[in-house]
Amino acid sequence: MQDTFKHKGLRKLLIEELRLKGIKDERVLDAFFEVPRHFFLDLAFEKQAYSNTAFQIGAGQTISHPFTVAFQTELLKLNKGEKVLEIGTGSGFQTSILCTMGVKVFSIERQRELFIKAKKIVAEVLKLNAKLFYGDGYKGRVVDAPFDKILVTCGAPYVPETLLEQLKVGGILVIPLGDGDVQAMKRITKISATEYQTEDFGDFSFVPMLENTK
Ligand code: SAH
Repeated sequence: MQDTFKHKGLRKLLIEELRLKGIKDERVLDAFFEVPRHFFLDLAFEKQAYSNTAFQIGAGQTISHPFTVAFQTELLKLNKGEKVLEIGTGSGFQTSILCTMGVKVFSIERQRELFIKAKKIVAEVLKLNAKLFYGDGYKGRVVDAPFDKILVTCGAPYVPETLLEQLKVGGILVIPLGDGDVQAMKRITKISATEYQTEDFGDFSFVPMLENTK
């Protein structure tokens, strides 16, 4: 796979578009320049890799819109070195954006086919140091908890209690909530062992977070 000047130019244009749509965190925008999004799509879609659209990545799943990835990442208010758990590795694009921003990423995917594909690109092609797991995101990663930040990239019907438990006090969970076609983007901050503060960031559309179907 090649990353040419043309691809880099297209990424610059995409970054300007993300800026116009309201993304302000320069570290997020820098990561969008670093990560070649076309590596995550099948060759047939290479040209569209830098338009602001979602795509099929196999197993009936999608790679999220660039804006959605950027928006969720910005909501996490990341600091270098933090431990971040991602639910829904999918293509591995979001995972790669997080890694590039200098955080320690743990990511769970419940579709084996996608897990294998993402592992190839993230670890072998891009040589990023993410810990990828095949498993059920509802369970989180007890052995690696607690996390500074948790990011759910599929539409959750409710907030899984396990994920709240695996969050540090002061930590943030970003989760699209709702089981219909539309989810409300929530940012939940754990202010003490038992107290949470929730903010709403509007409507988005995600593939569902599935339970017990592995
Ligand atoms: N972050 C991804 C977005 C992928 S779409 C990207 O950048 O491409 C959401 C993903 O969540 C899908 O791949 C889907 O298979 C996965 N998913 C759905 N339910 C899940 C669960 N319970 N645990 C882990 N992953 C899940």
